[in-house]
Amino acid sequence: MEVYQNKSQCSGCTACMNSCPVNAITMVADQEGFKYPQIDETICTECDLCQKICPFHEGYSKEMNLQTPKVYAVKHIDDDIRIASSSGGMFTALSDYVLEKHGVVYGAAFDDNFRVCHQKAETAQGRDKFRGSKYVQSDLGNIFQDVKAELDRDRDVLFTGTPCQIAGLRSYLEKKKYDRLILCDLVCLGTPSPLIWKDYVALLEGAKGRSLQGFNFRDKGNGWHTSRLYAQFMDGTTLCNNPLLDSFNSIFYQHIALRPSCHMCIFTNFARPSDITMADFWGIENSKPEFDDDKGVSLVLINTKKGEAVFEKIKTGLVYEISTMDECRQRHLTVPAEPSPNRDGFWNDYYECGFEYVAKKYTEYGLRNRVKQRVLKPILAKVGILEIARSLLRRK
Ligand SMILES: Cc1cc2nc3c(=O)[nH]c(=O)nc-3n(C[C@H](O)[C@H](O)[C@H](O)COP(=O)(O)OP(=O)(O)OC[C@H]3O[C@@H](n4cnc5c(N)ncnc54)[C@H](O)[C@@H]3O)c2cc1C
Repeated sequence: MEVYQNKSQCSGCTACMNSCPVNAITMVADQEGFKYPQIDETICTECDLCQKICPFHEGYSKEMNLQTPKVYAVKHIDDDIRIASSSGGMFTALSDYVLEKHGVVYGAAFDDNFRVCHQKAETAQGRDKFRGSKYVQSDLGNIFQDVKAELDRDRDVLFTGTPCQIAGLRSYLEKKKYDRLILCDLVCLGTPSPLIWKDYVALLEGAKGRSLQGFNFRDKGNGWHTSRLYAQFMDGTTLCNNPLLDSFNSIFYQHIALRPSCHMCIFTNFARPSDITMADFWGIENSKPEFDDDKGVSLVLINTKKGEAVFEKIKTGLVYEISTMDECRQRHLTVPAEPSPNRDGFWNDYYECGFEYVAKKYTEYGLRNRVKQRVLKPILAKVGILEIARSLLRRK
C-alpha cells in the first residue's frame, strides 16, 4: 500500500503519518534524501484515512480563502531587523505579536548539525533562529502533534512554513477552526534536497578544514536585490563570493534537485492555504521605486478575515503601502518550477561520483563552467556572436 501514486503527488507534509490511528506510517528518506510515508502493512487496518487526509487528494479544498487577497508592500520599522531578515521582516512583526501574548511560534531553523528542521520557540531569542530563508526542505518530524497539543492548551500559535506544510497541518487538524492559530505560508520556488545540502555542508567544511558556525542564504551586505550566500566558521573566518559556496544557489535556481512534487505544486497561485502569505516583493523597484531602499521589502497577502484582524494589530510596527495582485505577480505565484532538463543526469552523476563531482559539472565551482560563464560568454556577447547564435537557434 502507498499513500500516494507517484512521488510527484507527495510533498512529505506528514499529515498522513501524524493522523494514522494505529501509527502504521513512518517517514523514510529516498535516494534523493526526500522523506516519504512508508506504511507498515502488518499494522495497517486499511482505514484509508491517510489517503483522504492528503492535501493532494482530490477532495482537498482551500475553503479558508474567503476573499481575493489584500496585497501589501511591507517593511519592518526597524532597519536592523530587515537586514537580518530575508525580505522586509514581516515574519518578525508577526511572531512578536504572538510572543507578546505568551504564545508559541513554529518555524524552520538549523539544528546543531546544520540540518534544516521545524522547531518551536517561546522567546524572541528562540524565534530569531527562524529568521532567514533556508532553501532546503525542512524536516517536520512530529511537530504537528506538538502544535495540536499547544492549541488544545488554549495557547496562541503561529505556524510558518511552505504552503504544502501549511496545507498538511490544516489537513491534520481536520479543518477544526482554532481561533488562536495563525497560519503563515511563503511564496515558494520549491525545496531542494536535504541530502544535497548535507553533502554541500560537508564539502564546505572539508575544503576549509573547519566547522561551520553560521550560514546565511540571503546576506544583504551588497543589498537585498543582490543578496548572496555567506558562511561563518568556528575559527572566526568567513566566506562569501566563492564558487564552492555559490554552487548551492546555482543548484537551487537551476531546479535540478527540487522535490519532485514542487514541479506539480498546487499553490503557485493566489489561492493560498494560509491566513497570511509572505514573500519577497520582487518588482517593487518598478511599481513603487520610492519604497525600495534595497534593504528588503516583504510582499504580504492577507488571505482570510483572521489574517486581516492580525494585520490591523501589527501594522503600527510596519511601514506599508497597499498594492495589487498585478503589481506583485511573480513567477512562483503563476506556475510551478519547471524541472531542469539536467535533473536525471545530475542525480545519476551524483549516485556514481558524489557531490563534489556534480557541483563541478553543473555549477561554476567547475573551472570549465566558470571560464564559459565569466570569460567566454562576455566576450561572445561583446562581439555579438552570442546574439547571432541565439537567433539562429530560435529560427530552428
Ligand atoms: C524554500 C523557500 C523558497 C522560497 N521561494 C520564494 C520565491 O520564489 N519567491 C518569493 O518571493 N519568496 C520566496 N520565499 C520566501 C522568502 O524567501 C522569505 O522567506 C519571505 O519573504 C519571508 O521573509 P521575512 O523577511 O518576512 O522573513 P524572515 O525573517 O527571513 O523569516 C523566514 C521565514 O521563513 C520560514 N522558513 C525559512 N526556511 C524555511 C524552510 N526551509 N521551510 C519552511 N519555512 C522556512 C521561517 O520559519 C520564517 O517564518 C521562499 C522561502 C523558502 C524557505
